[in-house]
Amino acid sequence: MKLSLSKVVGGCRLGTLTNLGRKENQSMEIPGCLLYTKMGSAPHLTHDTLQTVQNIPVVAQLSLSSLTDLHDVLADYKEGIGKFIGMPESLVYCSLHDPVSCSPAGYNTHKTVSIWGSGGRTELTASKFMAMQQAIRPDWFQCLSDGDTVAGEISKKRAKKSVDRSLSFLDECLHLQQKSPELQQSMMIGVIEGGNVLEERLRSARETAKRPVGGFLLDGFQGSTMAKETKLELLSFVTAELPAEKPRFIHGIGRPDEVMEYIERGVDIFESFFPYLVTERGCALTFNYDYHPNPKEAVLKENEQTDVEGKADETCNRPEEITSFEICLKEKRYQEDFGPLVKGCSCYCCQNHTRAYVHHLLMTKELLAGVLLMMHNFQHYFGFFCSVRNALKEDMVDQLKKSSSGSFSEA
Ligand SMILES: [Zn+2]
Repeated sequence: MKLSLSKVVGGCRLGTLTNLGRKENQSMEIPGCLLYTKMGSAPHLTHDTLQTVQNIPVVAQLSLSSLTDLHDVLADYKEGIGKFIGMPESLVYCSLHDPVSCSPAGYNTHKTVSIWGSGGRTELTASKFMAMQQAIRPDWFQCLSDGDTVAGEISKKRAKKSVDRSLSFLDECLHLQQKSPELQQSMMIGVIEGGNVLEERLRSARETAKRPVGGFLLDGFQGSTMAKETKLELLSFVTAELPAEKPRFIHGIGRPDEVMEYIERGVDIFESFFPYLVTERGCALTFNYDYHPNPKEAVLKENEQTDVEGKADETCNRPEEITSFEICLKEKRYQEDFGPLVKGCSCYCCQNHTRAYVHHLLMTKELLAGVLLMMHNFQHYFGFFCSVRNALKEDMVDQLKKSSSGSFSEA
């Protein structure tokens, strides 16, 4: 994997990744995101419906936890996960956990890390982990690590332990990778742990950077137990320690305002579970990411925003997780709204259907609701990343943040 940075402005890194693992002819622009999948396929979408979505990320993410039951089958199959799921051309990044499901705390030991799949808990040693990767043959994979530092305040001792264990897993996995012909073209991503203890975070970053990893995963920033200020501060210090020429991944960060804050602190690659979560609650992403100034439209957009925020709709219980980046199509006010989800959106749903129709599908629990919302939400989210890169190219990141500030500040 080769990263060419074309520009670094105020911490944000703009660049292109080439030589992506097994498929050397593909490239990926950063900042960017991975395609969120369940076992390799995009949720709700067939391969054909996914192809109508614009700006699909070139690398698909799947989690090891969802593949534990398949290990034996894949080991016998001997051709890797890409071909097995019918997508031999896809680039695959294998993470330990699914960002959408929770992993209970307190199960990791000196020698093992636990992951949870449909069949329950699986305890992984470094050799079992590497045997699974050998059967999957991903292009990139997250190294085994002890990231059990997310829940609540952790002690210095626990933070130190997470770093020690993760470094020892890394060394063992690198050693096993050398001996595996199947994994010679796969890129291992080193994991930086250390909870909220700066000194451990820095040690983790420095030590991991000494090893021959393809990139770095900044782990343990998901969840809300660590204060946001602490996270951002830690992150700035950690990314400053990392070599510039390797990409930095983060897990569990999906909200557009947070993505911006993390990009400004030197993070390159995100996930795309956020549009999936939005879809699952019957919502559509509507936040603005067009940063080119157009005063007349800006006023219109502002009014529209106030309108949406202003009327609480008692027909829909608005669970707390609904963010100001989205609208809830289950609300009765959309029953006779014959406009698209987002004016001007070129996705299949907005081109062919109305908010009223999606509302109806949701009310009658038709599976098509999930399909249409997923198509729109993915396209909107991937479009946001394109807009971030263009804004970086044109030195207009502040304008981008302002143009979406209606939604960003309310969040
Ligand atoms: Zn759309």
